[in-house]
Amino acid sequence: MQRITDIFSHKNKTFSFEFFPPKTEEGYLKLLNMTPILCALNPDFISCTYGAGGGSREKTLDIVEHIQIHHHVPSVAHLTCVLHTKDQVKNILTEMKQRGICNVLALRGDAPKDNPDWTPGKNNFKYSWELVAYIREHFKDHFSIGVAGFPEGHILCPDRNLDSQHLKNKITEGADYVITQLFFNNQDYFDYVSRLRKLGVSSRIIPGILPITDYQALVRFCSMCKASITQEVHDIFKPIAEDREKTLAAGIDFCLKQSRSLLQGGAPGLHFYTLNKVHPVDVIIKGLRGNS
Ligand SMILES: Cc1cc2nc3c(=O)[nH]c(=O)nc-3n(C[C@H](O)[C@H](O)[C@H](O)COP(=O)(O)OP(=O)(O)OC[C@H]3O[C@@H](n4cnc5c(N)ncnc54)[C@H](O)[C@@H]3O)c2cc1C
Repeated sequence: MQRITDIFSHKNKTFSFEFFPPKTEEGYLKLLNMTPILCALNPDFISCTYGAGGGSREKTLDIVEHIQIHHHVPSVAHLTCVLHTKDQVKNILTEMKQRGICNVLALRGDAPKDNPDWTPGKNNFKYSWELVAYIREHFKDHFSIGVAGFPEGHILCPDRNLDSQHLKNKITEGADYVITQLFFNNQDYFDYVSRLRKLGVSSRIIPGILPITDYQALVRFCSMCKASITQEVHDIFKPIAEDREKTLAAGIDFCLKQSRSLLQGGAPGLHFYTLNKVHPVDVIIKGLRGNS
């Protein structure tokens, strides 16, 4: 299966989708039924989260392997090091390798709600740069490694310059590319890219884009991760928050505009947070391709 960096070597811009592992068996089967539709859109790669929002950690590898074997789409397994010992991380990476997975998004993750005081000891990783370094040390070039980036700074490091330095560390330790946190003000993304370029980071910084489908859920999520919601987004979505159809249509419209402006401004592709929903991404990708 292709490494993400091999795709970059012959494609200037990539389109990719992110899924999360559903909590229930029923949700899992639904996701498997949905993947052929999204894979038919020919994404350059797909990624699957790890434990985000309490989702099952074990299912991440199953989903990634399934997509690679049945749909032949290169896939990225997210891996968070929070709660894991170094030995456990090594076992997971070994299993990935055995299952033909060669793309990983190396993350720290967050202590879960039921264990908020968890702190890393000497057998754990404290930051994701340590995980990146560990992967490179133990698995050499087997994995193409992506990392998370935060155009507005990370919740624990709102100083954007310092957070960009921390991002640079991940690249120095061996990460190949960056996927960003969602954002709604494209200028935040462009400023982030230029901060990183000034620091000497030349890797691809792929914007993570969320098609809005639920205003209340968006407000909740952004307050947790401290991503800003622009006044424009509030103005469009708040008045129609109770109307699912109108929100869906406005979300597609907003996402198309945001995506086009990012691509025109030089973004090296788009990574869509699908929230395991087919329709918005289906319409958006077809809209972007029809327009290109
Ligand atoms: C694209 C993307 C995908 C994600 N996928 C998942 C997922 O699958 N599962 C999940 O649970 N979560 C996921 N997350 C959320 C992510 O795990 C959290 O945002 C987490 O809080 C930060 O992870 P990180 O890898 O960026 O951490 P790190 O890179 O370790 O950074 C964490 C904090 O530490 C700071 N820092 C780094 N180095 C140092 C240092 N040397 N000294 C002091 N401070 C430092 C950083 O500035 C930052 O504030 C994802 C986020 C993004 C953007």
